[in-house]
Amino acid sequence: MISHRGHCRCEGVVILANCEPEITVFCHCDDCRRSSGAPVLAAVSFEKAHIEWQASSTLAKYVNGSCTRLFCNQCGSPIAQEHESAPTRTYFNTAFMDEPERYPPTAHSYAPEQLAWLELNDTLTRHEKTFSIEAK
Ligand SMILES: [Zn+2]
Ligand SMILES: [Zn+2]
Repeated sequence: MISHRGHCRCEGVVILANCEPEITVFCHCDDCRRSSGAPVLAAVSFEKAHIEWQASSTLAKYVNGSCTRLFCNQCGSPIAQEHESAPTRTYFNTAFMDEPERYPPTAHSYAPEQLAWLELNDTLTRHEKTFSIEAK
């Protein structure tokens, strides 16, 4: 079985996804920047039904409108996001996954919001807004 493991720094949150990744994307929106503390967020989604939460004792959630951000309340690692308009998926931060090289982004969301000093020399599709959830 194909499995994909992810964990936060303190291992209070550990997941195994027993399915293929669905969506891999860069997001340049302000909300992703703030929740990750990084100039751009890379995310990979898995179907909720195939995600096994092996540890979740320190899992915390921050609900902001239709978006819920998951993070670790012990080590502070950002973990994932969930959206009301995509109820079957959890979008994990690619850097939360144990093997981030396996999930190269295939597109950009909110491309016009990309920071001017951030250089990304790729030829991926650049969406004005999002393509996998309902736009804000
Ligand atoms: Zn942690
Ligand atoms: Zn975003």
